Amino acid sequence: MKYKAFHKLSYGLYIIASEFEGKRAGYIGNTAFQVTSSPAQVAISCHKDNATIDFILKSKAFSLSVLKKESDTSIIGEFGFMSSTDIDKFRNVETITAVSGAPIVLNSSVAWLDCKVVNSVDVGSHVLIIGEVLDSDVISGEEPLTYDYYREKYKMLAPKNAPTYIEKEKLENEIVPEPVIKSEQTSKVEPKSETSAHTCAICGFQYNPEEGDTASGIPPGTPFEDLPEDYKCPICNAGKDYFNPS
Ligand code: FE
Repeated sequence: MKYKAFHKLSYGLYIIASEFEGKRAGYIGNTAFQVTSSPAQVAISCHKDNATIDFILKSKAFSLSVLKKESDTSIIGEFGFMSSTDIDKFRNVETITAVSGAPIVLNSSVAWLDCKVVNSVDVGSHVLIIGEVLDSDVISGEEPLTYDYYREKYKMLAPKNAPTYIEKEKLENEIVPEPVIKSEQTSKVEPKSETSAHTCAICGFQYNPEEGDTASGIPPGTPFEDLPEDYKCPICNAGKDYFNPS
């Protein structure tokens, strides 16, 4: 079996949120898809250890916000890599409440669906939750974020609770055909920086000195050692101390 074949499946990235007894929880998931058109139903696959699953199953409601291509990295960091049991992920985002009662995150979203739970299937590590769409809206005409784009841009792998998680070692040991590179591109390859890339131990974000971190104001060619002491991971906000050479 070639694990990299799974990376050829296309996904989006979504904030999935719910509310129960006045408390809100949410996470970022890629496993969300429409399963029927009449009635309109969608399914999500949620890890049993995910704090949000209890909220969804008890309230029988969830919302799904479709993230835009250039989403705010702090939203990805908090909703994707932190737990709703530790922080209030909603303190800095704008939300509305639709028919089901679930909070809908508007920041960095291009559209949303509001769903009531109509069925759930225990699939082992995860629960497949099926929701009927009660309401939906489009927020902006911007492009949605795809999982492939996210993986390439941030050099990220799925976190352990994701249904699409694959161990890094399994991927590294596989040989697959490389993309065809045109000859004029190969002649422009810059020599590699002498300082190594560093990886965030919290979320897996990789700082590459050749690319810098332009979103954080760090120009390409900046060695990790020269980053300001208050540099923070653009995904999860972890400090420099959490980065290890990779
Ligand atoms: Fe991080």
